[in-house]
Amino acid sequence: MKWLTREDFTKQYDVVIVGAGHAGAQAAIALRQHQFVGTIAIVGDEAELPYERPPLSKDYLSQEKGFERILLRPARFWDDREVDMLLGREVDMVDPSDKKVIASDGSVIAYNTLIWAAGGRARRLPCAGADLQGVHSVRTRADVDNILGHLEEVEKVVVIGGGYIGLETAAVLSKTGKDITVLEAQDRVLARVAGRAISNFYEAEHRAHGVVIRVDAVVREIVGERGRVVGVRLANGEILDCGMVIVGIGIAPCIDALIAAGARYGNGVIVDEYCRTTLPDMYAIGDCALHANAFAGGAEIRLESVQNANDMAATAARAVVGELTPYRVLPWFWSNQYDLRLQTIGLSMGYDAEVVRGDPASRSFSVIYLRDSRVIALDCVNSTKDYVQGKRLVENGVRSAADVLSDTNLPLRDIS
Ligand code: FAD
Repeated sequence: MKWLTREDFTKQYDVVIVGAGHAGAQAAIALRQHQFVGTIAIVGDEAELPYERPPLSKDYLSQEKGFERILLRPARFWDDREVDMLLGREVDMVDPSDKKVIASDGSVIAYNTLIWAAGGRARRLPCAGADLQGVHSVRTRADVDNILGHLEEVEKVVVIGGGYIGLETAAVLSKTGKDITVLEAQDRVLARVAGRAISNFYEAEHRAHGVVIRVDAVVREIVGERGRVVGVRLANGEILDCGMVIVGIGIAPCIDALIAAGARYGNGVIVDEYCRTTLPDMYAIGDCALHANAFAGGAEIRLESVQNANDMAATAARAVVGELTPYRVLPWFWSNQYDLRLQTIGLSMGYDAEVVRGDPASRSFSVIYLRDSRVIALDCVNSTKDYVQGKRLVENGVRSAADVLSDTNLPLRDIS
């Protein structure tokens, strides 16, 4: 009998991508598009082939789309392009000097180039009861299947966090006839990502659909009985009864293995304009990558969006094949709630004025964000024309007066 040695578990690839999400999948696609002929493996801890995450709080949660329809590519696609999918295993160690990663099943995978695309994990509530049965997040397919598997048993759902994911989830669940309450610790929903006009509008929309929105609502504890959630206790002592809690309070980037390996980091792995980390032959892309963003005035940020995942993947892939093109892409984002499609262009952080263009009561309007009188971002609600035409204003940092920008008789394309 032959004892298996570590070498028996060792595989070697030209490029190893850690994380089978949007960024990881797109990196492999972009490498092949750039005629990269070397071997590629994607190592992912989820069981599934790469799938779209945005539908998890939209049409996958509402069951309008089944799982096959949210796969980024069918299985055949990866076979045809000779991308090995090493799924269901987590990379817990990176050895940058030997250029190897070690996965949770003991396998050792050697690389010439490593692309770290591990995204983030849903943040847990920092209070008692966070682990009770019936407390969920919305980050993975398994999370949503778990919610759907238990939804019938409950009447009241409390959503903690009034960001996009919490609000989208509330919008979908409001259609199930359940009693839905959204708790937001700040004084308005979407406070981290949008101005007051957008917050006011969405609060009113949710209320009109029967969702209870409570702002300034700080959660102290998740109350349980026999291991299951039965309520949420607020800082003021009030207890809200519920059978399910859905937590949408952001993510923590998955970067522990890179930190242990010596990569520079802050609120994410630090990368340069080509998505290179500070470790040799190692890139980081997507939600986990902390980068200086030109549209944030050069501030170091992590962007959590499909746009950023895809465009960073393209930047890293180009760098791997020797085409160094700096990452400088105008950020965009969307959110679907009820029959409302919000489209965002640019980054509104640091704005000093917001201009409402159109009448929110018409349910088709835009908010234009300015810093030092320059347009830095637009939030467009059911207003694709403004979204398309506003792009140039943000790209060029156009200076304009509020009364010009708010004049709906003047198309944004005519403003220079
Ligand atoms: P992910 O998609 O998170 O992929 C990372 C993968 O790596 C995951 O499968 C993770 O489990 C795995 N992983 C982590 N650690 C390891 C490890 N050590 N070893 C192996 N694998 C590991 N963006 C938009 O632009 N518009 C939207 O409307 C929108 N809606 C969203 C709705 C929801 C519910 C969620 C959760 C996200 C939404 N986003 C949206 C954000 C968008 O989905 C993310 O920005 C995008 O998925 C980031 O891609 P990524 O590849 O960096 O990370």
